[in-house]
Amino acid sequence: MMWLTLDVEEITDMNFHVHWKQIPQLEYEKYIESFIALSKNRKATAFVLGSFAKKYPHIVKKLAQNGIEIACHGLHHNLVYSENFQTWSHDLLEAKKIIEALTCKPVVGYRSPSWSLPFEKRYYEFLAKVGFAYSSSYFPMKNYMYGNSIDKKAPFMIYTKYGKVQERPIAKKIIPFSGGFYLRVLPLWLLKILFKKTKNSVLYVHPYELMDRNILHFFKEYATYNVDYFLAFYASSSARKKLKALLDEK
Ligand SMILES: [Zn+2]
Repeated sequence: MMWLTLDVEEITDMNFHVHWKQIPQLEYEKYIESFIALSKNRKATAFVLGSFAKKYPHIVKKLAQNGIEIACHGLHHNLVYSENFQTWSHDLLEAKKIIEALTCKPVVGYRSPSWSLPFEKRYYEFLAKVGFAYSSSYFPMKNYMYGNSIDKKAPFMIYTKYGKVQERPIAKKIIPFSGGFYLRVLPLWLLKILFKKTKNSVLYVHPYELMDRNILHFFKEYATYNVDYFLAFYASSSARKKLKALLDEK
């Protein structure tokens, strides 16, 4: 069964080096509504950034009211490996509290921004200590920004003195393929084959991948040219269609 996940953040939270000419005003509520429609009768989780929850509490409530599990994506979208441990743990706890105050339910899932959680015991120890039961922060390939070189393809358990935490890696078949950049870039026929060949079907998307408009036009309007955003958003306008086609098959 496909596990549909959404990283709930603003486009300006991305860790790619985009130089914004002006801050884009996006219709996040509309994109979230498309996600809600896609998630009907499926296992779905929204990893919400604390800063997003503060700014758009009604959107987070709407996700929860529609049966979507609300989990945590950290407070700001900082790369965990570039922060010190104290800052990370303090901010994570704050984000957890902000989100729980909105949904009145314990938050038990965590996904680090851009898969940047170092694969070190102290991080999982802290997650267990403050009540997280699982993390979905493990990207099974190393690239210039994130990822792990240990080849874990299926969920696995990490035992700490405060209890256990399950890590749920992103699907991989030679390369990771199940969301974000890969969903935008890989053709649908290839995505279909890859999903058929793996048992691990976690799919991840971002709100801005669910917008209607052509993402390259969007970037021309709001940002100065940068090779990163071109790479990141190439073929992005078809991400929503691909997502729908993949979900319809499963
Ligand atoms: Zn993110």
